[in-house]
Amino acid sequence: MKILFVTSEVHPLIKTGGLADVSGSLPAALQALGQDVRLLIPGYIQVLDKLESKRTVASFSVFPGQPEVKLLSAKMPETEVPVYILDAPQYFCRVAGPYQYELGGDWPDNAMRFGMLSKVAALLGSKASPVNWRADIVHCNDWQSGLAPAYLHMTESAHAKSVMTVHNIAFQGNFDRDWLAPLDLPPSCFDMHGVEFHGYLSFLKAGLHYADRIVTVSPTYAHEIQTTEMGYGLQGLLTVRNGDVSGILNGIDESEWDPATDIHLTARYGLGDLAPKAEGKRALQQRLGLEVKERVPLLGVVSRLTYQKGLDMLLECLPKLLDGGAQLAVLGSGEADLEKRFEQLALRYPGRVSVTVRFDEGLSHQIMAGTDIFLMPSRFEPCGLNQMYGMRYGTPPVVRRTGGLADSVSDASLPDGTGFVFDEPTPAALYRTIVASIDCYRDIPAFRRVQSNGMKRDVGWRVSAQKYLELYRKIE
Ligand code: ADP
Repeated sequence: MKILFVTSEVHPLIKTGGLADVSGSLPAALQALGQDVRLLIPGYIQVLDKLESKRTVASFSVFPGQPEVKLLSAKMPETEVPVYILDAPQYFCRVAGPYQYELGGDWPDNAMRFGMLSKVAALLGSKASPVNWRADIVHCNDWQSGLAPAYLHMTESAHAKSVMTVHNIAFQGNFDRDWLAPLDLPPSCFDMHGVEFHGYLSFLKAGLHYADRIVTVSPTYAHEIQTTEMGYGLQGLLTVRNGDVSGILNGIDESEWDPATDIHLTARYGLGDLAPKAEGKRALQQRLGLEVKERVPLLGVVSRLTYQKGLDMLLECLPKLLDGGAQLAVLGSGEADLEKRFEQLALRYPGRVSVTVRFDEGLSHQIMAGTDIFLMPSRFEPCGLNQMYGMRYGTPPVVRRTGGLADSVSDASLPDGTGFVFDEPTPAALYRTIVASIDCYRDIPAFRRVQSNGMKRDVGWRVSAQKYLELYRKIE
């Protein structure tokens, strides 16, 4: 089957969050199942710099009156998955982030940037494909490729079927209706039964309306987004399309995230020999300026610092935990207020709290390996990958029972427990659960059992990639 996987970020080229990890590993897993899968990504500077041996395979104008763009072809590093790069320098060759400029505002022409990505995806799935290859399935991911199913729907000749994966329904890509004409969308589609969402042109809504199938990244989240509390206004549409909605839990890239082979670690370890994990803890404490103590519980956070992740609840209960002797290592960036509050905490607890505000792939691996307990108290979490990395690295996670956290972590009170789970999104419930995790940490055999259950859990892509393939086959 010919599958085009359209994404706005992909590890190891460009990453702001979990979507990049999924885009780096799911296509490779599908390729391993014998499929002809190719990526389509924007030609950001980082992408053009990191990809070698690029060839121009097409030049064409995407929208009437727009200058020509190029389509380049290359192979992904390591996995060798073929990748098409949409080379439109005026839109993508910019310093700063893929969606935002340095000060944190969205690029004002995001509608054109990702509308163009969506349109090219649809072309690659139609008879008008600019290259000698045409997709049977166009697999879209989040709002940035949400218009592709709409463009496919408007294509008169035979065209690919589309799948829309929602990695986070809170990000919708809603724009002023004035963008309809530049994006070559007919006024007739600006309708409740089309691309319109409360007076705006919504990329995600378009994807959810026109795609042949809708997938979310965990079965629990597939139910949650059909509720008023968690559907961000799209629950009505999702409920109507209920029969086309399913949840497939993400996997992790086991070649990147394996404590036995991890290139970012000096002390590697596995289930059979956990001793080097203690060395990793010592190295981490040294690197981060924490007091080097072996048996002090070291808590870890690697996260976007946003309301979604529930870290404000954590901030409320941290002083008690730190006064009780715990240490904390935080890596993350995001909302200014949360960054500031964590930095203030680090000043108040020198040697006990370390806060690193930046994106640092290597340090994220070292925190995963060197801490004892990983904290992920998300208010909502479509899937979440860090809790799976934590389990894999013998660092049991504390999670709230929501979305993919509910589907991937079982509580330590169960025989197959892999972490510590709480229900209420309150600082008190979180505090009680962290205390329970620290009590467990102090009971060495009990903690070993939780660590070992987690390290044995199958969190790879095999099963999930197979599920995606079955889904494609149903609609092909
Ligand atoms: P989300 O996609 O909502 O941000 P996930 O848990 O699905 O959350 O994925 C987050 C990914 O981003 C993980 O691979 C995590 O390690 C990584 N990550 C988040 N913040 C940072 C950071 N500051 N430095 C390095 N990696 C980070």
